[in-house]
Amino acid sequence: MPHNAVSPSSPATRTGATRSTTFDWLDEQHRLRREAGLVRTLRPRPEPGAGEPAVLDLAGNDYLGLSRHPEVTRAAADAAHRWGAGSTGSRLVSGSTALHTRLEEALAEFCGFEAALVFSSGYAANLAAVTALAPPPELSGARGLLVSDEGNHASLIDGCRLARAGRAVVPHADPEAAGKALAAHPGRGLVVTDSVFSVDGDAAPLAALARQCRRHGAGLLVDDAHGLGVLGDGGRGAVHAAGLAGAPDVVSTVTLSKSLGAQGGVVLGPARVIAHLVSSARTFIFDTGLAPAAAAAALAALEVLRREPGRAARVRAVAGDLHARLTGAGLTAVRPDAAVVSVRAPSPRAAVRWQADCRAAGIEVGCFRPPSVPDGVSRLRLTARADLTDAQVERAAGTVVGTAAAEGFLNSR
Ligand code: PMP
Repeated sequence: MPHNAVSPSSPATRTGATRSTTFDWLDEQHRLRREAGLVRTLRPRPEPGAGEPAVLDLAGNDYLGLSRHPEVTRAAADAAHRWGAGSTGSRLVSGSTALHTRLEEALAEFCGFEAALVFSSGYAANLAAVTALAPPPELSGARGLLVSDEGNHASLIDGCRLARAGRAVVPHADPEAAGKALAAHPGRGLVVTDSVFSVDGDAAPLAALARQCRRHGAGLLVDDAHGLGVLGDGGRGAVHAAGLAGAPDVVSTVTLSKSLGAQGGVVLGPARVIAHLVSSARTFIFDTGLAPAAAAAALAALEVLRREPGRAARVRAVAGDLHARLTGAGLTAVRPDAAVVSVRAPSPRAAVRWQADCRAAGIEVGCFRPPSVPDGVSRLRLTARADLTDAQVERAAGTVVGTAAAEGFLNSR
């Protein structure tokens, strides 16, 4: 009998299905993952109670502390009451509301772009922008070229894989390498980069990349997921800070799920780019529109950020303080340009243990293991938040250092 055949004598399961060997290979995959310390499990957050949470959260991406801001949650609740819990359809059918339009106008204006388009996630926005902005062979006579930093987020990588274009993966934060790749494809390139890289929290050399793009007639697509709300004047993002917002050859994407505390993604760019996406981007056309509550929450959060621009500076100060405390104690971390502080762990297993030790001591931190980190090095990832007090920052850093010392990680770089 072939190894994936269903045996007639297999006992029926609770759901009435017979036993099958079809997915037996998954068990082997799982065993290999377990041996490498790479199994992932879901861990629901504790039910919110009254008062200070028992565990201090430095794992989430709520950089400005806006996800629970009363104006933001009230706006979401009001929108759900008014428009319904879901958007009811794709943006081009029934899923666009006045809230989506207002959010697009407000974000374009805030970040300094001509136009914007809201998607159901930052992931979907990135897939759309990357796949839709390389010139198609039937128009340009040859395939376009996507030039992608090796440290880019998975959503940009997947966009490059899906696009009908050539692909050059270039060394991390290396404008010269990007220029060399573009030189062979004049007028047909698109450089794709994170503004702040999610693994180590370092920033891309945007101005130098833009110079290379202009030299070779290429476009520049920047994923500013970690820059919005943190970098630039009042949190207008890394693209704005680099003086590139509104440029005719620059497109930016952001997520609404980090500093704006909501959910969803946005592409920002010249009006003709946005019009092109509306008519061609598959993750726009075939996806249900963002829930009105999420759009309303993001709008309200943007309003708070406009009114309180000091939140952006505070989150950067918290990140700098965390970094200084951790490296001062002997841990290895890249200097953060935004809100992400990543410290090296000796191995994937060590990272998981370290994270569990921190949790037991009341601090929730993120844990990055392969394949999320390309170099095989694992990390604990701490996110700075504008609403952390100095005492909480001290406690968090002290816990990460204390648990590292107890595990003997302090000198393993
Ligand atoms: N880009 C980067 C750099 C990210 O860190 C993330 C979120 N993990 C995304 C895109 C995806 O955004 P979203 O979570 O809204 O899908």
